[in-house]
Amino acid sequence: MKYRKGKLMFFLVIFLLFFSVSCIVQEEQADVPRELETVSKEQDLQEVVHASEQELATWQANEAGKVMILMYHVIGSSKESTWAQTTANFRRDLQMLYEQGYALLSLQNFLDNNIDTPAGRTPVILTFDDSYSGHFRYLVVADGTKKIDPECAVGVLLDFAKQHPLFGHTATFFINNNPPFGQKDFWQEKLQELVALGFEIGNHTLTHPKLGKLSSEEVQKELAGLAKLVEEAVPGYKVDTFALPYGLSPQNYELAVAGVYEGFTYKHRAILKVGANPTLSPAVKDFDPLHLPRIRASSLEIAFWLDYFQNNPEQRYISDGNPQTIAIPVEKEVLLDKSKLRDKKILLWNKDI
Ligand SMILES: [Zn+2]
Repeated sequence: MKYRKGKLMFFLVIFLLFFSVSCIVQEEQADVPRELETVSKEQDLQEVVHASEQELATWQANEAGKVMILMYHVIGSSKESTWAQTTANFRRDLQMLYEQGYALLSLQNFLDNNIDTPAGRTPVILTFDDSYSGHFRYLVVADGTKKIDPECAVGVLLDFAKQHPLFGHTATFFINNNPPFGQKDFWQEKLQELVALGFEIGNHTLTHPKLGKLSSEEVQKELAGLAKLVEEAVPGYKVDTFALPYGLSPQNYELAVAGVYEGFTYKHRAILKVGANPTLSPAVKDFDPLHLPRIRASSLEIAFWLDYFQNNPEQRYISDGNPQTIAIPVEKEVLLDKSKLRDKKILLWNKDI
């Protein structure tokens, strides 16, 4: 009996202690706005999940490495060329990239240096120019309902990501008004669906002219016109990336960056070229988003660059899986532009570990 009383007292004391502690905690939390509370929890979590030096060395994490921005044109061609791929080519590219440790990254996340690529993988950015119907096609069935054609680029990407969730399905479509993706009755709906699915839309001008031959006014009409078309079709969406048609810039490069036509203003945070190298990491000193190179996504070019990174692994961007940290081998620290990294934490690792 005495023992049971003692035990009861013990539990009572524990209960009171727990109750008072939880009251104190609740009181302390009462003054913390909900959003801040979430942020601080996230920060705590990130503190905890920083990779160890051993993990970084195992992954060979190098967030000062280079990134491929692949440039596709026709998808669904009957035979392959530099500017045209069969659907089978495209599927094979995704499979190769996946097997060699790549994962898709959105252009916007890349520009923000918000690289959420899974740890140990290399980001790759997909871009599609000229808004061909093979990029995004609806199949309309007898009762009028429609579905995404599994043979178009969007269909292939969605299906591949379903089977390989680590890879993701994001891409940027640089469109013209031709109308975008054919099927003129559906182009607005397609732009809305692209954005809803997590894809991005970029500027490729209204009519795909050689901008160097146009007057300043005509250049601005082409760029403002396309941005307006998209932003009216997808309320709230902002077009802020631009791929130069034919890789040719206007005589006044400033107009590729920003301008105005009939009261509509455009401003691009990134300008993408046609050739011909991987781009630098957004964390390094010479990164220039207004002159981003791309790689032509032919079998030959892709194979060349995959081989290049296999043979020069120290050149390859490899993620540590955490957008809040910049993980690099210690000897690459000199490459970083620390002024751009703001609140990101730099994690250095040593090869000799
Ligand atoms: Zn083009």
